Amino acid sequence: MQRRSLSILCLLGAMFSAHAAPAAEAAKLRVTLLSGLNHHPWQQTTPAIVAALEASGRFTVTEVIPPSPADQAASTAFHIDLSKTDVVVNNWTDYPVKLPAGQTGVFPWMDEVLRFVRSGGGFVGIHAASFERHPEFLRLAGLHWRSAKAGDRIALDDAGKIVRTPKDEGPATGHGHKFEWKVTTRQPQHPIMAGLPAEWLHVQDELWHATRGPAEQMEILATALSPVTKANEPMLWTVSFGQGRVFMTMLGHDGLAMSCLGFRTVLARGTEWAATGKVTLPVPADFPRDKPVTVPTAPNRP
Ligand SMILES: [Zn+2]
Repeated sequence: MQRRSLSILCLLGAMFSAHAAPAAEAAKLRVTLLSGLNHHPWQQTTPAIVAALEASGRFTVTEVIPPSPADQAASTAFHIDLSKTDVVVNNWTDYPVKLPAGQTGVFPWMDEVLRFVRSGGGFVGIHAASFERHPEFLRLAGLHWRSAKAGDRIALDDAGKIVRTPKDEGPATGHGHKFEWKVTTRQPQHPIMAGLPAEWLHVQDELWHATRGPAEQMEILATALSPVTKANEPMLWTVSFGQGRVFMTMLGHDGLAMSCLGFRTVLARGTEWAATGKVTLPVPADFPRDKPVTVPTAPNRP
């Protein structure tokens, strides 16, 4: 009898958790994280991205490692199933890969990602991550690390007005030494930025200047003052790409940069917004203001 009661209890428990678990999981947004190839230390940053997203309680993260474009056969055969994905977070770039002469670096799986976003999916791009050779990537990203001939440059004047420099004029993208720098909120009403301080101090990171691209259907959410160009350079922005929402952050060079509570908060809120168009994640009470606030980083990948 005792054994039977126990069995019934176990059965009830199993039924309860079988029903409870999917309900809890269903409330979570499904992230596909592209990783495994980057000239930046993805072994540091991928665990930090996973930790930041999962700590928010809002996401489940599935990591996908596309092949190196140097392997044309594997890259051509590779497909990515995004039917159960709400938002793609990109920490992958083919930038450092040298291809044999005549070999393309554009593959069907990249088109699948772009099609997903164009049809209403979310996309988050982090720092150097990009589909470097894909002709539509710059339209999706708005701006990225490119030469001056690749597209316009966008900066904000001190009044917050957009200053557009045509392609072929002005500097190419670059950065100076890493240092602690101030992030300035430019769209305090945007869901990602609502409740964030007007300015906060970010941990030591690269500050990119003169990013280039078509910069179409783009909204600049935050800038930072570059000591190289003396201009307010775009750091966080959104892009409309078809029916989809794109959130881009130029913050996040390495594991140290991603230990910043400001970065982690903005990444999670930006990912939620890209997936849903809304932000429910709160701004932590200890969000940085006049000094950086860091949290312990996740262990590096081997
Ligand atoms: Zn970098």
